[in-house]
Amino acid sequence: MLRPRHRPGPSPGGKGTSVDLDIPSLLVVNTLLQTVAALCLSMAALSLPRQAGLTYWAASGFAQAAGLALSNQLDWLPPWLTLLSSQFLIFTGYGLAYIGVVRFLGRPAHETWPMLAVGVLLAAMFLWFTVGAPENRGRILVSSLFFAALSAAMAWHLVRHAERDLCPATTVTAALYAAWALLALARAGWALVIDWQGTAQEPHAMKVATRLVIICVTTTVTNGYLWMISRRLDSELMQQARQDPLTGVANRRVMWAAGEMEVSRALRHHRALSLLMIDIDHFKAVNDRWGHGTGDALLVAVADCLTHELRRSDILARVGGEEFMALLPETGLEDAWAVAERVRQQVATATLDRPQGAVRCTVSIGVATLGADGHVWEELVTAADQALYRAKDTGRNRTETLSVGPGGLEAILPLAQSSRGA
Ligand code: GH3
Ligand code: MG
Ligand code: MG
Repeated sequence: MLRPRHRPGPSPGGKGTSVDLDIPSLLVVNTLLQTVAALCLSMAALSLPRQAGLTYWAASGFAQAAGLALSNQLDWLPPWLTLLSSQFLIFTGYGLAYIGVVRFLGRPAHETWPMLAVGVLLAAMFLWFTVGAPENRGRILVSSLFFAALSAAMAWHLVRHAERDLCPATTVTAALYAAWALLALARAGWALVIDWQGTAQEPHAMKVATRLVIICVTTTVTNGYLWMISRRLDSELMQQARQDPLTGVANRRVMWAAGEMEVSRALRHHRALSLLMIDIDHFKAVNDRWGHGTGDALLVAVADCLTHELRRSDILARVGGEEFMALLPETGLEDAWAVAERVRQQVATATLDRPQGAVRCTVSIGVATLGADGHVWEELVTAADQALYRAKDTGRNRTETLSVGPGGLEAILPLAQSSRGA
C-alpha cells in the first residue's frame, strides 16, 4: 500500500526517497477505517439507546463502508453499475450522517428536508453524468457539491443549535465539517476550470489527496460524534446533580454552594443579601385529603409561582419536602420583606385545578439579612429558619423576620399588618 520508491540517482527535489500511494490500497484502508468506525458507533448506539442521532451515525458508517467496498472495481458487475451503487451508498450514508446531526441536536425532522432535497437533486445529476451523458468531470463536480452542501449544513446546525454545555466538542466537529465543505468546494471549482489537458481524467495526485482527506474526515468525525455524546452525558449528569427532579428548580446542593459564594461576595463588596425560607402550610393535610399526586402537582405549582415572582438573578431551590429557599442578592431587609409578602400573597390567591376540585394553599416565610442576622451562610440559614418557626407559631400564612427592631420596618408596616390579618 505504501510503496517506498527508491530512485537510483538524486531525485529532482534533492531528496533520495519519495512515496507513491496507489488508489486501490487507499480505498481498502478507507473501507476498513469506515467499517471500524461504524462498529464503534453501533456499539455506542446499542449501549446508549436514549442518545438521539447515534443510530443514524452508525447506519451512516455502514452505508459508507459498503459504498467504499464496492468502489473497488468488481469483475462481475458492469463498471457503471459498480460506480453508481457505490456512490449512491456513500450519498445515502452522508445523508444519514446529516439526519443524525439534526436528530442529535433535537431539531424537528422537517429541518432536514431542504438540504436532503438538494442532495437528491445532486444525486440525480450524478446518475445523469453516469448513464445519460457519461462525463467524469460532471460526476466529480456534482459529487463534490453534494459533500460540500451537506457538510456545510452539518457545520451550520452544530454551531447554531448545539447547547453551550457541548462546547468545545460541537465547535471542533463543526470546524471539521466546515473544512471538509471548503475542500469539497475547491475540488468542485477545480473540476469546473481545469480541463486536465483534454484527458477528462482526474490527475493521480488529486485522487490521492481527496482519498487522504476522506480518510482523515472519517476518523476525526467519528471521534467528534463520540466526544459530543460524552459531553451531552456529562451535562445531563451535572444537570441531575443540580436540579430537583419534581419541580425543576435547583436543589439544596446548589443553594448551599451559591449561598456561601454570595455571602462572601456581598461581604467583600459591602452589598446587601437576604434569604427567604418558604414552607407550605399544612401540606401533610393536602396529601391526606387530595392524595400524593395532587400534593406533587401543588409543589410544582408553588415552585412555578415562586420562579415567576422572583428576579432572574435570585436563586430559588427546593431544600426539603415542601420547603423552598430563595437567595436575593443586592436586596436589603425591607425589600426582601416586600418580595416575601408579594410571594406569599400570590401563592395564597393562586388555585390549582384538579379533577376533584380547586386546591389552594398558603406559605409561611422567614426572612433573614446578612449583617443583621449573621455574617456567615450558616448563621443566615439559622436565622431564616427561626423566623420561619416564628411565622408558623404565630398563625401561618405570614412573613416574619428576626431582625425587626423597634421601628425597624416602619416603611412596610402596613404590609406587615395586612399579612398578620390574613
Ligand atoms: P406545617 O404547616 O407545620 O409546615 O405543616 P406541614 O404539614 O406542611 O408539615 P409536615 O412537616 O408535618 O409535613 C410535610 C409533608 O410533606 C409530609 C410529607 O409527606 C410531605 N412531602 C414531603 N415531600 C413530598 C413530596 O415530594 N411530594 C408530596 N406529595 N408530599 C411530600
Ligand atoms: Mg409545611
Ligand atoms: Mg416543612
